[in-house]
Amino acid sequence: MSGNESRAEAVFQITNRKPASVSKPKSLKKTWATDVFTLERMEEALSKKAYKAIKNAVETGAAIDPATADVVAAAMKDWAMSKGANYFSHIFYPMTGASAEKHDGFIISDASGKAITEFTGSLLIKGEPDGSSFPNGSIRVTNAARGYTAWDPTSPAYIMHTDNGATLCIPCIFISWSGESLDKKVPLLRSNAAMNEAAQKVLKLMGEDDVATLNSSCGAEQEYFLVDANFANLRPDLVLAGRTLFGAPAAKGQEFDDHYFGAIPPRVQVYMQDVEDQLYRLGIPAKTRHNEVAPGQFEIAPYYEAANVAADHQQLLMTVLKNTAKKHGFVCLMHEKPFAGINGSGKHVNWSVGNSTQGNLLDPGKTPHENLNFLLFCGAVIRGVHLYGPLLRAVIASAGNDHRLGANEAPPAILSVYLGSQIEGVFDQIKKGKLDNADEGGIMDMGLSQILPFAKDAGDRNRTSPFAFTGNRFEFRAVGSDQSVTGPLIAMNTMLADSLNWIADELAKALKKNKDTTKAVITVLKKLMKEHEAAVFGGDGYSAEWHKEAKKRGLKNLPTTADALPYLKDKAIKALFESTGVLSPVELESRFEVYAEQYILSIAVEAKLVANMARTTIYPAATRYLSDLALAAASATEMGVDLDDTVAKNVGKNINGMMKAVAKLEKAMAKDNFKTEEAHMKFCAKDIRALMDEVRSFADALEADVADDMWPLPTYQEMLFIK
Ligand code: ADP
Ligand code: MG
Repeated sequence: MSGNESRAEAVFQITNRKPASVSKPKSLKKTWATDVFTLERMEEALSKKAYKAIKNAVETGAAIDPATADVVAAAMKDWAMSKGANYFSHIFYPMTGASAEKHDGFIISDASGKAITEFTGSLLIKGEPDGSSFPNGSIRVTNAARGYTAWDPTSPAYIMHTDNGATLCIPCIFISWSGESLDKKVPLLRSNAAMNEAAQKVLKLMGEDDVATLNSSCGAEQEYFLVDANFANLRPDLVLAGRTLFGAPAAKGQEFDDHYFGAIPPRVQVYMQDVEDQLYRLGIPAKTRHNEVAPGQFEIAPYYEAANVAADHQQLLMTVLKNTAKKHGFVCLMHEKPFAGINGSGKHVNWSVGNSTQGNLLDPGKTPHENLNFLLFCGAVIRGVHLYGPLLRAVIASAGNDHRLGANEAPPAILSVYLGSQIEGVFDQIKKGKLDNADEGGIMDMGLSQILPFAKDAGDRNRTSPFAFTGNRFEFRAVGSDQSVTGPLIAMNTMLADSLNWIADELAKALKKNKDTTKAVITVLKKLMKEHEAAVFGGDGYSAEWHKEAKKRGLKNLPTTADALPYLKDKAIKALFESTGVLSPVELESRFEVYAEQYILSIAVEAKLVANMARTTIYPAATRYLSDLALAAASATEMGVDLDDTVAKNVGKNINGMMKAVAKLEKAMAKDNFKTEEAHMKFCAKDIRALMDEVRSFADALEADVADDMWPLPTYQEMLFIK
């Protein structure tokens, strides 16, 4: 293999590469959150009064007055400059799912021309990036082009280092001049507030008199691929689209399951430790690391945090993963399906809600049938998944994730909820109007004296469910690896808020009729289950029977983004966001437009690349090889040898087939007379994608025939197995 000169050079570079220089491990105590302007740091630097104000804001979302902002800004600047930062940047999260930043210096000059530094409360509180080039859906068409960033004190500021400098980064919201959210953070904060308000009502009705502010929590498991940069940079598709648009399968794939949880390759482990060291400095609690199912695929999962902070940290984690990969000679691919034929990458979003007085409300404890608060919150989630399944599907819709969902390696594109046998058992009783007992997990005792017995979980796991209860949280498993976790968190918080509001009304009614709280809860949940049990499913989500059964139950199967995104315009979903105050109709509409545009653009880029690579890379290689074969046949005939021409004929056929498909694809790409965004998306999902696949099938067949030393693109075998 790797006879082609550039590929051979890449292999040579990899074989002879010097390990990246990394520092020896330091104790967690020395590194933890050293680059974060933490509450403790503020306590040291601020007056008691200012500190109390900021702490209150962080813990309850209360407002901060301008004088406090001035004091915080001054302390923040001093701290940042002591870490070598001369610049600060408002960090915000536009609707595209990316992170955005605009840097400003602390520097100003005084009347005498001397350079001094300044950072006031107003600079901390508000920025005005030239946001007009961020996608904004319809908002900017109807309103002024101005955009503001505004400080979010509930997510801590931090320092990002480069080799020769540092920048103070301040997490912010991003809004239009007219006050509409142009970002992902505002609706997340609003969804949290809506959930808190609804939860307070329910808990008060349940007789709780001390109820602290509720917050949602998120722990995200991030899957990614590492490919050596020497290979990746030889592939225009990886560079521009983040996935391979061509590539015949390697002789060996993931069939041996020998990579999953296998020993982490040393070069990768050095990389991971480098990543973790930076994450610790940034106060991100990286906790789990392991090999994933596909060769070249890995996972990192930080410990869970408050959803707003976790979401910002997740964005930062993706940035650190990508940037650090460069230093180690890798390219980190977060695309949902970088390689055909082997597993793609997802992001499991673990989510729960709780507070400091009632704890985690999705924790059933040892006796779930006695934990009425848990049952109400869990019931609220069931109702939410049933009513707003299409919303959950829409918020994870993207060009990349279309390759995963429903492809028998990832959860199906049908949204259902898995409860596990224990909790399902309790809800089965509720349906009959009872609440007697719950299965117990029991003790795992192997009868081996060396192995200590331990308490078993009360239910098994179900890897085929898109939305699973996993002991003390729900795990949304269908999220794409490249996506922001914010969309899913907003959807989950908002549907929970809506369900809790419904429960509060029903519970108030039931309690009026019957003072017995347990009986009232059973009444409410029985009604809830009667209407919404269709969303509960514990079987094999990959099976054909489930697809049939789901249809019978009225659950929607939305295989592509083109099918799912239009649900953002659905009446019920509009009403959900409007009634909870999370997104106004204009804000929701603009999200549909931005996501639809992103989808269409991503597929357009891929289609252009397919045509371009087929024409300028694969066609020349294949015809050169065909000409070699023709020459060889001619010389052989001269010598009186009759060469078999099967391969030559095959190559010729596939070249022609490929170029015909390219012509069809190019014609389809030129089409631009779409009546609606929906029609355009459908065309991308069905026609453009199918034509791209057609070109690919011929190209991959050529890869199997063309002489290895003439094949211009690094192969799957090289990219997945050479480290
Ligand atoms: P698995 O691969 O078994 O699903 P991991 O341990 O890799 O689990 O990741 C589970 C994630 O769920 C971690 O980020 C963990 O911190 C998070 N998590 C645990 N408990 C909660 C909770 N109550 N709320 C939200 N996330 C949680
Ligand atoms: Mg998981």
